Amino acid sequence: MADQNPSPEQLAQVDYRPNGRGWLDPRVEFRKGTYCYSAAPKNLIALGLPNPREWQPYDQDWKLPPDWKETILAGMKERLDRYRSFRLFMDICVRCGACADKCHFYLGSGDPKNMPVLRAELIRSVYRRYFTTAGRLFGSAVGARDLTEDVLKEWFYYFYQCTECRRCSVFCPYGIDTAEITMIGRELLTLVGCNINWVLEPVANCFRTGNHLGIQPHGFKDSIDFAVDELEEITGIHVDASINRKGAEVLFVMPSADYFGTPHYYTLLGYLALFHEIGLDYTLTAYASDGGNFGLFTSHEMVKRLNAKVYAEARRLGVKWILGGECGHMWRVLHQYMDTMNGPADFLEVPVSPVTRTRFDHAASTRMVHICEFTADLIRNGRLNLDMSRNDHWNVTFHDSCNPSRAMGLIEEPRYIIRNTCRSFHEMPENTIREQTFCCGSGSGLGTDENLEMRLRGGFPRANAVRYVRDKHGVNVLACICAIDKATLPPLLEYWAPGVDCAGVHEFVGNALVMKGERERTTDLRGEPMAAPKEKLAHA
Ligand code: SF4
Ligand code: SF4
Repeated sequence: MADQNPSPEQLAQVDYRPNGRGWLDPRVEFRKGTYCYSAAPKNLIALGLPNPREWQPYDQDWKLPPDWKETILAGMKERLDRYRSFRLFMDICVRCGACADKCHFYLGSGDPKNMPVLRAELIRSVYRRYFTTAGRLFGSAVGARDLTEDVLKEWFYYFYQCTECRRCSVFCPYGIDTAEITMIGRELLTLVGCNINWVLEPVANCFRTGNHLGIQPHGFKDSIDFAVDELEEITGIHVDASINRKGAEVLFVMPSADYFGTPHYYTLLGYLALFHEIGLDYTLTAYASDGGNFGLFTSHEMVKRLNAKVYAEARRLGVKWILGGECGHMWRVLHQYMDTMNGPADFLEVPVSPVTRTRFDHAASTRMVHICEFTADLIRNGRLNLDMSRNDHWNVTFHDSCNPSRAMGLIEEPRYIIRNTCRSFHEMPENTIREQTFCCGSGSGLGTDENLEMRLRGGFPRANAVRYVRDKHGVNVLACICAIDKATLPPLLEYWAPGVDCAGVHEFVGNALVMKGERERTTDLRGEPMAAPKEKLAHA
């Protein structure tokens, strides 16, 4: 596909008929546009991971270590013993099929092995063969199969066609979380040196410098200084954004994309304006310069290694609590793993807003509050002077990013902020938002160009809902609170729903915020004329 550049109309013609081969047949075709390139040896070496070598998924010989099979089976046993959820998910699926049509990759590709139930069966069949009596005795008659190189290749193909979004788990009557099965599958593959570069390069950079791009502390400072200057040009106000300042009350951690990507960057301008306006005593850190954590897409061990820097920096700087920016998987890590893996954070205090005195008791263990919770509280207590008309050029819909919505229930706060900063807001259809939201199709480290066809296919259900509100209500911007979304939704929308932009929620806050002493605003945070109606959409 990547060579042929099919039109959206062609790509939307999905063939849902099975290919006629039984599901136990593991052979896959590594077709250009549908898989990711292997991790470069230098990145495995940097992380101390096994079997660094040159190889690609389409190679016949993957140069596996001689004992690869024993390594995988020993790894499975260890994880079955350590994670009760993994063992449970191997045993309790009744193959009811309730999850079958809930995965965006199945909907966009028609490939049955992208049904969550079948994705899990890829590993469950090996579990049966080696870890159950029935599987040992009756083999394929009970859905068991040997672990072969073809099976391993099939794992690689399909576990890197799952964005670990957890949509399927919402519909499973047994609560089976296929994302966790994918995570274990990727972890096992990593044991024999099979990983993708789009995940491991950011991990290696993060391990070395604290952020995904490998930006050094002076580069981080330059980026923040640049943002401060730009905000001054727009508002006439010079804000102070201190870095590595000991004794500040709050440590602010954001995804690194906020200071090197667009539209993320406008979100950063929004944060800086907000913090200045409320007089927040905060510091950034050049060492925990990324809340993002691609370790989540590699292994539990890697999650822990990359996350440790957040508490370490909070301790070093002597802050009272931590505030976190707009990111997706960063919050899954913070919300579900950080305290267990790197806590207890008893050297910090339970977060209390210095402006409203609201005590965030739900963050009593992590000691970390989401920027949307913090800002929504400010608005609710009437502490911000907001001119909603400054966002009149935006006709907004909101994409619930998978991790904040499904993994931590952050659903109302961003909507509350949007409704208080923008006058035009329209929801997408109910079965495509909130807990049932559709993934961007590029999360969990799959946002690379070589698998663009799968990204466009996987993102189709999301984009289709955007297209619906674009055509019905003239929506021209999709808001979200995830750095990966902000990077991957623009090309997706350009393909499936042209005319719709993408923005972070705090960009709207920065536009609407009337700052004390500001000069008359003539442009928004993008440097575009303030509230000038966008070019009318042809279909609106
Ligand atoms: S919905 Fe749950 S029990 Fe049913 S097939 Fe899917 S994973 Fe298995
Ligand atoms: S976690 Fe998401 S991408 Fe993975 S199987 Fe479930 S619905 Fe599909």
